[in-house]
Amino acid sequence: MPHTHASSADGDEDKPCRACSDFKTWAKTQNRVTFSTPGKNKQPPPQRRKDCPLDKDEIGTATWSFLHSMASYYPKKPSKTQSDDMTKFFNIFAQFYPCEPCAVDFQEDIKKHPPQTDSRDAFAKWLCERHNTVNVKLGKPTFDCSKVHERWKDGWEDGSCD
Ligand SMILES: Cc1cc2nc3c(=O)[nH]c(=O)nc-3n(C[C@H](O)[C@H](O)[C@H](O)COP(=O)(O)OP(=O)(O)OC[C@H]3O[C@@H](n4cnc5c(N)ncnc54)[C@H](O)[C@@H]3O)c2cc1C
Repeated sequence: MPHTHASSADGDEDKPCRACSDFKTWAKTQNRVTFSTPGKNKQPPPQRRKDCPLDKDEIGTATWSFLHSMASYYPKKPSKTQSDDMTKFFNIFAQFYPCEPCAVDFQEDIKKHPPQTDSRDAFAKWLCERHNTVNVKLGKPTFDCSKVHERWKDGWEDGSCD
């Protein structure tokens, strides 16, 4: 059963939440899109437009891409103000992340593991670990955090991104 919007103030609490479901799950609730079994249907499946609202996984990947890039370009030696501002950013981000059940878990996680914003390396490692916590929850492989700048800033050591 896909998640619905939680905020009754918005008047959309009964609608399935696209940002909390993957597209296939969400589409099934709409009774509009059907998914055929390959080889059983002569008609190709309808092409989905490219400019549709993002589902949970699309928002997730776009958000992680932004956050890890921001961490890898964060100052190596931030000022006190920069460090405090980045901590505030994460506390606010966690309140407004558009997948509500994801946001609730993330708020809990950063309460247990507050943002480490004293240096670029500490911040990138902290964020990598937060992402790994979600990876474990979803049964995905964890990422080797010693390679986070190769993935998000410098390119792989073997030159395959150059
Ligand atoms: C704050 C937050 C909370 C989320 N919570 C949930 C949730 O509760 N439930 C849910 O279903 N989805 C959640 N998501 C979405 C989920 O994390 C994935 O984005 C989504 O499942 C798509 O996964 P993916 O396999 O495409 O790769 P993603 O997890 O989106 O990762 C994108 C790329 O990042 C790299 N990467 C992977 N792990 C790391 C790491 N630890 N450090 C650095 N780089 C890494 C890899 O190269 C990967 O291809 C959340 C997303 C965010 C941003």
